[in-house]
Amino acid sequence: MTLEKQGETLFSGFDFYNCDMHFTDKQKALRQEVRDFVECEVLPAINPYWERAEFPWEIARKLVDLPIIGGALHEHGAAGLDLVEMGLVMYELSKGDGSVCTFYGVHSGLAMGSIGLLGDAEQKARWLPDMVKLEKIGAFALTEPDVGSNASQVKTRARKDGDGYILNGAKRWIGNASIADILIIWARDEETNSFGGYVIEDPNDKEGLSINDIWGKIGKRAVLNADISLRDVYVPAANKLAYVNRFSDMAQVLGLGRYCVAWEAAGVAAGAFELALKYTKEREQFGKPIAGFQLIQHKLVEMATEITLMQTLCLQLSHLINNGQLTAGTASLAKYNNARKARYVTQLARECLGGNGIIIDNHIARLMLDAEVIYTYEGTNEVNLLLVGRELTGLNAFV
Ligand SMILES: Cc1cc2nc3c(=O)[nH]c(=O)nc-3n(C[C@H](O)[C@H](O)[C@H](O)COP(=O)(O)OP(=O)(O)OC[C@H]3O[C@@H](n4cnc5c(N)ncnc54)[C@H](O)[C@@H]3O)c2cc1C
Repeated sequence: MTLEKQGETLFSGFDFYNCDMHFTDKQKALRQEVRDFVECEVLPAINPYWERAEFPWEIARKLVDLPIIGGALHEHGAAGLDLVEMGLVMYELSKGDGSVCTFYGVHSGLAMGSIGLLGDAEQKARWLPDMVKLEKIGAFALTEPDVGSNASQVKTRARKDGDGYILNGAKRWIGNASIADILIIWARDEETNSFGGYVIEDPNDKEGLSINDIWGKIGKRAVLNADISLRDVYVPAANKLAYVNRFSDMAQVLGLGRYCVAWEAAGVAAGAFELALKYTKEREQFGKPIAGFQLIQHKLVEMATEITLMQTLCLQLSHLINNGQLTAGTASLAKYNNARKARYVTQLARECLGGNGIIIDNHIARLMLDAEVIYTYEGTNEVNLLLVGRELTGLNAFV
């Protein structure tokens, strides 16, 4: 049995507590546009890409037709979304597919967000206009082979050299890297130990730089992640992001990233739940729809409860941020809760489909594995827990 039927939409827009009453018409219209895009462009095409671990250019290129590139940035044609809109975009994309959502999040949020928040006027004017049109793709390289959760301790080094810097080091897991035109390398200055963002243009043709995709991923298979090695890579001084000196400067980008990933986690859970609800109402065993059995209803109610909590948490976090009250702890609590619950919900949804949940045709298996990545990136579950713990107690339990 397959859920796809001619002329029917797969998703229902689950909203048990009427969060919609808080959204403006403009926010709802944008959400509908992204929802339609997911139904028409993503769901019919994504599974073979995911299975082949191939980047879906066919889908990604069409994202430019949506008014979403550049997220909250206003300059140089960027979308100028408000926080709720940013969240709703992540939620709807993630309902359809985690890889497309991550491609968008890395390009628009992490890469363009870093340039928009931390670059000067000249840097923004150089890079953002082409990025808004998806004519140049961005990537954000923080994690290293030996430095993951302790990201502030990156070992990649920048050495002042005449009019520029020489970079040496290695990066790992970098989304979009092998298709990137604008690669931001986060490194520490060899002399001063200050933290900096160095923008490398056309990285795939850059002397001393090698980028190798990582194969064999079990989640988000249709977005490319790479290992990067930097050996005496020259970067002009004009390419060092103007307003970064400390790790905490860059962490502003991560804080907003965690807010977006909390919505992403809610979206992947809602996508799996909506598909499971539809399936269980249609699938009959013992002469009636399986949704009529108490044990299936238990799973459906567990899922609906967690998703409702995730949605309301995201919404309240957007109000906190608008109120200037975003802290590491408030962003991390939402990411911590939602990523954990997304894993739980997608597994329950998968169970509801029995054997049909094991194949990707019905999408849920893909969403379930994408939830594993959400659980780990933008700070692992443990790291986000420890950030909340530190804010609650004033005590650092990281080391
Ligand atoms: C698909 C994917 C895409 C990614 N995209 C990007 C990207 O575009 N750019 C980028 O820079 N990075 C990216 N990352 C990297 C991601 O942010 C890291 O994987 C993450 O920060 C964890 O680092 P690590 O994998 O090195 O795990 P580690 O830090 O080695 O952690 C391993 C385990 O130890 C636990 N642990 C570590 N420290 C502590 C502690 N103090 N107390 C308790 N437990 C602890 C962790 O929670 C985890 O369970 C991506 C990762 C994946 C999987």
